[in-house]
Amino acid sequence: MFEKCEAVVIRTIDYGETNKIVTFFTREWGKVAAMARGAKKPSSRLSAVTQPFTYGHYLIRRSRGVGVLHQGEIIDSMRTIREDIFTAAYASYIVELTDKITEEQKRNPYLFELLLQTLQYMNEGRDLEILTCIYEVKMLSVMGIPPTLDRCAICSRTEGNFSFSVKEAGFLCHRCESADPHRIPLSAAAVRLLRLFYYIDISRLGTISVKEKTKRELRTVISSYYDEYSGLSLKTKRFLSQIDELKEISSSGQNMGNHNKNNEKASDH
Ligand SMILES: [Zn+2]
Repeated sequence: MFEKCEAVVIRTIDYGETNKIVTFFTREWGKVAAMARGAKKPSSRLSAVTQPFTYGHYLIRRSRGVGVLHQGEIIDSMRTIREDIFTAAYASYIVELTDKITEEQKRNPYLFELLLQTLQYMNEGRDLEILTCIYEVKMLSVMGIPPTLDRCAICSRTEGNFSFSVKEAGFLCHRCESADPHRIPLSAAAVRLLRLFYYIDISRLGTISVKEKTKRELRTVISSYYDEYSGLSLKTKRFLSQIDELKEISSSGQNMGNHNKNNEKASDH
């Protein structure tokens, strides 16, 4: 029986001369894999609808292992993502992360919405690094490793200056900071943004413009946390780190003049 679903293509691998096995993240059933017969041939009606990042409606016959894709209809081809190498790099990380932390056929409409909205924002050209940070922070509760970001992880105070402790899995207020000599110091802006990223409904994300320096703080906290707790090592993430290094080298000469443009305003908090 073929059933209709709404899905994003998160991975494809070639199978034989002409076929592809396509992994979808669906709103209805979570992650499912399906054989797309003939999809490697450009003339196939399944070729366009099985491109990575494509969002559409699909008719799939599910089975325990790999199901069968019957047909698809594109809602959004996510063209910018597929045509711009930087956007594609960030989007590839988002989908690989999703793929790695989800099991087959485990329904999660929240995660579907988050993935779709993040890819759509990337496709619209919004800040790739910030979108990636938000996605990573939100994935922590999906993975079952939520950090404490609404109060001090030790004394539960909500007021004060905070740093981040990987060991204590959350913020430390200035009174408790001696509990972790390896705590990561944070600016007030970074504290506010980490909290915002964790709690915000992504569909309500306003314009966020964040200084390069604050982005580095966010990246440091998030990567250290992932290294310690996620157990993941993703190819696409390593590629992103290389891009970051390149950017730092190429922008270090220009930063001086740009200071005023990069004012911080997180408009939605
Ligand atoms: Zn405290």
